[in-house]
Amino acid sequence: MTRGHRDTETRRPEETGTIFSSPRPRVSASPRLDSVLLIFIDGLGIGTRGEHNPLDGIESDLFGLFQGEEARLPFEGLAATTDVRLGVEGLPQSATGQTAILTGVNAPALIERHLHGYPSPRLKEALERHSIYKKLISAGRRVAFANAYTPRYFEKRPRFVSATTVAAESAGVRLRGLSDLARGRAVFHDFTNYFLIGQGHMVRSCTPEQAGERLARLAEDYDFTLYEHFITDILGHRQDRPSAREHILLLTRFVRAVLDASDLSRQTIIVTSDHGNIEDLSTRSHTLNPVATLVFGRGRTRIAPRVRALTDITPAIVKAL
Ligand SMILES: [Zn+2]
Repeated sequence: MTRGHRDTETRRPEETGTIFSSPRPRVSASPRLDSVLLIFIDGLGIGTRGEHNPLDGIESDLFGLFQGEEARLPFEGLAATTDVRLGVEGLPQSATGQTAILTGVNAPALIERHLHGYPSPRLKEALERHSIYKKLISAGRRVAFANAYTPRYFEKRPRFVSATTVAAESAGVRLRGLSDLARGRAVFHDFTNYFLIGQGHMVRSCTPEQAGERLARLAEDYDFTLYEHFITDILGHRQDRPSAREHILLLTRFVRAVLDASDLSRQTIIVTSDHGNIEDLSTRSHTLNPVATLVFGRGRTRIAPRVRALTDITPAIVKAL
């Protein structure tokens, strides 16, 4: 897990965030990136090997990463070991971790604890003011949220919504629906549409390969695209080893298909998570493990060395775009 850090300068996180300070750092002279796709996978940390870890012993060259071992990623990808604890006691959780990813703000420090589930009013305010969408839109970039929402969401908006939804809605980023999905212009969170079909929606199932290709095509049309996947976290809480192993293989096929379908001389693909969970099925709860931020494509050597904590992801992308 050291490859992504090989060229890292010893900078404090707040120094890496001084994006528009004067004089500009030399690195900003390089041409800006064309397109970044951020694939957010909930609850996937870097664990230790053993029976407790469903990733140990499965064929996944993307997610078979273990503590103390060097990552060997396909497509010349770089892996940055990413701190999720952010200096705050307790188990890292979704609302604060996702807010940190999407804003660069140290969300657990802001509210003095790790918050699970959905963002609180203070986290919502941080998302509304500082989200990656807000920053990129104000810099004139085109952005998209690739996930498809069900009609139920639009008919009766739930009282609690995820950090990704708050970030998109507050920045005016259009939420996609099943008509976008039918046209290949959105991807459902489970990417095969299995859950939608189970709920009786008239949509076609697709293979991980088809879904990955669709996401890559969509991301080509924007400067920045976000896609969120959270079944990993659900399976971690269930401590369901057979399903976890099966699912990681599907997820590997999906992300591989994104990489296969992307022009990596132009596009940059980032895969990250908010906290550990599925990599340790001996516990129902999240873990204290770091997560891996995987970076592929054109911006990999610019972005991976900048990422040491969840709060570095938004600044690194904004700087490169
Ligand atoms: Zn989470």
